[in-house]
Amino acid sequence: MDMNEAKINGYEKLGETVCKKLNKLGYSAWFVKNKEEALKAALELIPEGASVGVPGTVTVRQIGLIDELKKRGSKVSVHWDPELKPEDRKARLLEEMTSEWLVTSTNALTADEGVFVNIDGSGNRVGAMAWAPGKLLYIVGINKITPDLETALKRARNTATPPNVIRLNYNVPCAAVGHCVNCNSHERVCRIVTMMERPPFGRECHVIIVGEELGY
Ligand code: SF4
Repeated sequence: MDMNEAKINGYEKLGETVCKKLNKLGYSAWFVKNKEEALKAALELIPEGASVGVPGTVTVRQIGLIDELKKRGSKVSVHWDPELKPEDRKARLLEEMTSEWLVTSTNALTADEGVFVNIDGSGNRVGAMAWAPGKLLYIVGINKITPDLETALKRARNTATPPNVIRLNYNVPCAAVGHCVNCNSHERVCRIVTMMERPPFGRECHVIIVGEELGY
């Protein structure tokens, strides 16, 4: 087996182990090998005609899900649409949150206990993960899996946040030095941290783990 094959094989074993754990916790989780399979799985899962809210995620865009949903006529709500007027933002956030499906990724997912760890600035993304009337779908690149809670929290700040603030052009120290310094900047994006330990009561939660690096 060559080095690349061994790496892919390792990803598959890790992804399947974590899916097994998540299924025991009450999620409906499965592993797919690459982003093409992730796109296919998500399109099969979300019924045609269902409304879908996507509260800011690089992963969902990378797999091409938003474009495909729009092509088949689904109503997709995103508050980060550059065309959106500031006065319409609040209504769009509500529309996004109350969609029949909420599709997002996670900043980190622990392999040992299956905990989803997320950091948010406004709270709409983690709020909708914790409660929203629709079904929840996480799409998670293999790079988001960490051994435990400590490494998950470190990943969320040191790995996930710097590229994200650079992308969004925030003036915070991690954008300059590439790691978290637990800043007190007025533009600090780390304001709310959530740890989802089980699917919330009464909510259908799905997880697709992808054997490729996706998102930050
Ligand atoms: S606390 Fe500040 S420096 Fe640390 S990741 Fe968040 S924004 Fe960046």
